[in-house]
Amino acid sequence: MQINRRDFNYGLALSLGSLPLLRFPFQQQQFRINSERIMAHIRGLAEFGTNPQGGVSRVAYSDADKQGREYVLGLMKDARLDVTIDAAGNLIGRRPGSVSKLPPLLIGSHIDTVPEGGNYDGVVGSMGAIEVAQTLAEKNVALRHPFEVVIFQNEEGGLIGSRAMNGELTEKELDLVSRSGKTIREGIKFIGGDPSKLSEVKRTQIGTYIELHIEQGGTLDSEKINIGVVEGIVGINWWDVTIEGFANHAGTTAMNNRQDALLAAARFIQAVNQIVTSVPGRQVGTVGRINALPGAPNVIPDFAQAEVFVRLIDHGEAARALMTEAAGDLAELKEVIWVPAVHMKKLDGFETCVVAYTTDIPAFEGAWGEPLLLGPGSINVAHTDEERILKHEIIDAIEIYKQLARKLLQT
Ligand SMILES: [Zn+2]
Repeated sequence: MQINRRDFNYGLALSLGSLPLLRFPFQQQQFRINSERIMAHIRGLAEFGTNPQGGVSRVAYSDADKQGREYVLGLMKDARLDVTIDAAGNLIGRRPGSVSKLPPLLIGSHIDTVPEGGNYDGVVGSMGAIEVAQTLAEKNVALRHPFEVVIFQNEEGGLIGSRAMNGELTEKELDLVSRSGKTIREGIKFIGGDPSKLSEVKRTQIGTYIELHIEQGGTLDSEKINIGVVEGIVGINWWDVTIEGFANHAGTTAMNNRQDALLAAARFIQAVNQIVTSVPGRQVGTVGRINALPGAPNVIPDFAQAEVFVRLIDHGEAARALMTEAAGDLAELKEVIWVPAVHMKKLDGFETCVVAYTTDIPAFEGAWGEPLLLGPGSINVAHTDEERILKHEIIDAIEIYKQLARKLLQT
């Protein structure tokens, strides 16, 4: 089983797994964000790519995406940001800090959607980041750190903008065709970037990146928590499993004289489920594919192959130990993909609470791996036109976003 990096990152974008969350203390401040303005901006952006049944289709590099970006660029200027489009096509709004050599704080999200997507995925974080910038500017809040609002391009089609900023976007990927029908290279030109200068986009001097994103699961809602802070991103462990048996006549070989590879595979599948659920935590394990040879009803299978997919916040060694236990001496495991979990920076003073949810976030790693802030969707869906979120949830989440950004900018 081969998987290229783009498919892999695309998979990440759709299904980052269970994440521990922390409870966030809400503080009263002398000034607040402008809730009416935020809601007007969210409604304004929803005009670009509106579907008759509700929701939006604003896939990257479409006309709706381009028009939506122009609208957002105007909002960034209104927020007194100095706006540029980087060579990858990301929109970047800057405000200097009083100590220019300090690393900048980045906040932002994306405004492109999947086809028939919702009005909030990416949008709440993008409009929230602009509102934070506008409120801080209007209140003349002095900043020590440089401050940047970033609207990443094409996050739903493979985290293209953020991976470019992380120096990961390859020349080969530029020729892949995006959902708009344009290649990534054509798309970047279409939105004002310059694919021949991608190497200039890579950033190394980033202090902290914080993203506000709706929850893509139902945990916050079911636990009656308004907002959570992501503590980490689950790793991915994917194995090819092979089991060898001995082929023989299915009609004449006695039951106690068989080496049935498919029966062993069935026991392995059962063991994966039992072992993954037998230890505390939010890890998940799935056998999603199986194949047996020779594949005839009257022959005992002598060969079975399965693929196992495990995601957990702990180190890969923990997953490996679980699968090795499941395999016992039945099966041979071969690792296909191992992506380590990312542990985000902890925020002081936050109470640990529930776990589990999914999101798509930029592909930052290492020094980029900093807290993400979440506002919940009030029902358990995302990436569809059924996305819903309550106004007070949006406003509270952005208010906390502002408080956190202000604290980091002034530290
Ligand atoms: Zn998103």
